[in-house]
Amino acid sequence: MSALSVAVIGAGAVGAATALTLAREGHHVTLIEPGEPGGEQAASYGNACWISPESVVPMATPGVWRKVPGWLSDPLGPLTIRWAHLPTLAPWLVRFLRAGSTVAKVERTSRALRGLVHDAVERHEALAASAGVSELIARNGHLYAFRDRAAFEAEALGWRLRREAGVRWLELSAEELHQREPALSREYRFALLLEDAAHVTDPGAYVAALASAALAQGAMHRRARATGFEIRAGRLQAVLTSDGRVAADRAVIAVGAHGKALAAAAGDSVPIESERGYHIVIEAPEASVRTPVMVADAKTPLTPTVRGLRVAGQVELASITAEPAWARSDVLLALARRLLPGLPSDIPPERIRRWMGHRPSVADGLPVLGPASGSADIVHAFGHGHIGLAAAPKTAALVADLVAQRAPAIDLAPFSPTRFR
Ligand SMILES: Cc1cc2nc3c(=O)[nH]c(=O)nc-3n(C[C@H](O)[C@H](O)[C@H](O)COP(=O)(O)OP(=O)(O)OC[C@H]3O[C@@H](n4cnc5c(N)ncnc54)[C@H](O)[C@@H]3O)c2cc1C
Repeated sequence: MSALSVAVIGAGAVGAATALTLAREGHHVTLIEPGEPGGEQAASYGNACWISPESVVPMATPGVWRKVPGWLSDPLGPLTIRWAHLPTLAPWLVRFLRAGSTVAKVERTSRALRGLVHDAVERHEALAASAGVSELIARNGHLYAFRDRAAFEAEALGWRLRREAGVRWLELSAEELHQREPALSREYRFALLLEDAAHVTDPGAYVAALASAALAQGAMHRRARATGFEIRAGRLQAVLTSDGRVAADRAVIAVGAHGKALAAAAGDSVPIESERGYHIVIEAPEASVRTPVMVADAKTPLTPTVRGLRVAGQVELASITAEPAWARSDVLLALARRLLPGLPSDIPPERIRRWMGHRPSVADGLPVLGPASGSADIVHAFGHGHIGLAAAPKTAALVADLVAQRAPAIDLAPFSPTRFR
């Protein structure tokens, strides 16, 4: 197929990977992004860094609502709701809980997620190598730490889904766990080691490198905010931006949690909200982990990065425009001290960086990926929730298939933008 002019809107992990993939295929790419690719404005900057083929378990599962009161009342709990925003969020929340109301629904969602992440590690390695930053991908596995075997068995559904997705693990005894992770609290006496998993050691630098590689392939960066589309007789003419019109044959909406308005401008109504998340990075930590560790009961990953120990997590439900509640990052710090008792209580504040950002969460736990209703020239590629870093390269490949009118490698029906009608 001949080269097209493609406007990729948003330069997070999804947009940057897509821009690079399309530029490699010979298309004339314009990356429309008001900020710096890889910058702090994007969820792709601040996530937990995990490239996890095991991310095939949606957040909503049967009975999750029963755990909500406990999480909300625990000061160190993983979930918080700003009650003033509840009326606006209620329709999304109802859909979210309904999507996980039966095992059959969760199994369907899990099968769809599998298609986006099963080969995430290999795809990231290839993408990083092609951008000249192989050193930013570390393949040294993931550890899931539990207080005991019973705590692992209590998560049977999730681990069954992972096994069915082809994920393999080794069981570690308390002694084996503490040999591998001597700094981790002795409260954790059982673990799973997923040897094939990986992490990005500096997600901001990685996204910036992917965008730079796209620019080196001829892509242009337009520093502007997309506001809508000019569509004539079903064909895209241009993307409208805060800095004028960008003429384009095709456009890709890769703006993460900001997708609702642009999706509507392209003819689709998508129930997406921000699941706000936080991280702290402790520079030169006195105690840390060697492998990324997910502490199951705290639902908080600890990740070693080039900038220090990153503790990322928390789900805060509030509007996308609400100010950060930095008390949530204090929760992460308190958790870090509990999980790594060697961390002192008086770490100087200048060694602790804090960040808040927006997980783009579609109510049914799946991203929106496919041609827009208002024009098939516009492709949706947003709403990856908790897995957008891991799923970025596969998403980019699928978008490239759609742009080139090739049959996509997986069935895109579960991701259809029209599924909420
Ligand atoms: C605390 C936390 C931990 C996480 N941990 C992980 C993890 O370990 N592994 C994982 O796979 N995922 C993780 N995630 C989720 C992951 O970070 C996101 O799913 C992913 O970053 C989404 O990427 P994106 O490119 O779609 O969106 P973003 O990274 O948010 O990028 C969107 C970009 O679009 C730009 N934009 C917005 N509106 C416009 C507009 N109108 N015009 C032009 N540009 C616009 C923004 O400036 C931004 O740069 C985590 C998220 C959080 C918050």
